[in-house]
Amino acid sequence: MAERDRSERWFERAVAVIPGGVNSPVRSFRSVGGHPYFVERGEGAYVWDADGNRLVDFVQSYGASLLGHADPAVVRAVVEAAGRGTTYGAPTPGEVLLAEAICDRVPGCEQVRLVSSGTEAAMSAIRVARGATGRSRIVKFAGCYHGHSDGLLAGGGSGVATLGLADSAGVPPGAVADTLVVPYNVVPAIGDDVACVIVEPVAANMGLVAPVEEFLPGLRRACDESGALLIFDEVITGFRLGPAGASGWSGVTPDLWCFGKVIGGGLPVGAFGGRRDVLAVLAPEGPVYQAGTLSGNPLATAAGLAVLEAMDPDRYRRLSDRVGSFAARLEESLNDGLGRSGRAGLVEARVPSVGPLVGVSFVPAGSDPIVNFDGATRAAATGRYARFFRGMLERGIAFAPGPYEAAFPSVAHSDADLAWTVEVAGEVAEGMAAEIAAEDEAGR
Ligand SMILES: *Cc1c(COP(=O)(O)O)cnc(C)c1O
Repeated sequence: MAERDRSERWFERAVAVIPGGVNSPVRSFRSVGGHPYFVERGEGAYVWDADGNRLVDFVQSYGASLLGHADPAVVRAVVEAAGRGTTYGAPTPGEVLLAEAICDRVPGCEQVRLVSSGTEAAMSAIRVARGATGRSRIVKFAGCYHGHSDGLLAGGGSGVATLGLADSAGVPPGAVADTLVVPYNVVPAIGDDVACVIVEPVAANMGLVAPVEEFLPGLRRACDESGALLIFDEVITGFRLGPAGASGWSGVTPDLWCFGKVIGGGLPVGAFGGRRDVLAVLAPEGPVYQAGTLSGNPLATAAGLAVLEAMDPDRYRRLSDRVGSFAARLEESLNDGLGRSGRAGLVEARVPSVGPLVGVSFVPAGSDPIVNFDGATRAAATGRYARFFRGMLERGIAFAPGPYEAAFPSVAHSDADLAWTVEVAGEVAEGMAAEIAAEDEAGR
């Protein structure tokens, strides 16, 4: 057993002064058992916990880190920026450079406004869509997560799903009265009272669910026919699937984009952007108000720019290729391990990948592919993920502590890190298989 005494002590202190001991529920170990490890430092693919254990980290701040932890170029950019002051309340060259870097890379995205989180980006994009169309209703897909603003906390993925909350308490019915929640991967009918359709173009908050072939083009057409705006929430996929994110990957161009995570290089940034004529509704030009004291923060824009400049199409391609092969080997290794129980065929691992995004789930053998939140929920309900998670963590490999989160191999994960992960996963799965066999025996 790895020592975790110091993390335990930090957790005791944390729960005394921070609700649940965590500042975001996805960091809680509630759904997997035990208490979180406390991180003292990170470097590349690794983090070290408070007891000095090194973990191969597939959490990577839920996708905020693409180059790995403490990348030297990012650290240098932040240190240099900090030396010049951390916030001014006046425009800075750094925010122009980051906005240019985003617009240069994403065809159709002519302007962006910077904010401080993905939540703010999605909330503000919706406000723009409502202001631009004069309509109130919004359509979202079950299992997609768009941050924790009131109107978007219906049918949410990620931590909302992990904690079994269909929706959140504290959100008045009025706040979600105009939010229609429909199943992912089916093009819904869009009425002429709908301001916008918001979607994760590759869903990464209900495990990893790729769009079926006709889904995104179908949404584009349905929006065009009804006059609704199409919003791609690319807070995860943006600058991760490639320089042009999921819109580049799919060839479907939305009216508005939401960005976050990668574009902050590990500091708090979000952005929403789109066509110039749509964004013209924003104050100070137009009537839609949106603001932020720390928006376009100099440290955050410097970090984000350093990440975007470190990546090029070739580097994205190499990362995607390596991760695609890793996901296939991980799935095979898990299923080999699970097959060693003598009760082969009860539980099956599924490890889909899209670009450098990976999902890990366990389903009753022979289940249909997971294409929506119902499928993701059925997989989570097997309860197998927790055993996988604990087994991997015990051996020094950190996946997210919940069955609805994606895994985020970074540029810094070496072939050896990935190969070791595949090997360890096979051993963990073998242990799971013995457990499954015993349960099956007991159930007879
Ligand atoms: C993480 C995430 C958000 C929210 O971003 P925060 O920075 O956590 O507020 C929004 N949309 C998607 C798709 C996300 O994955």
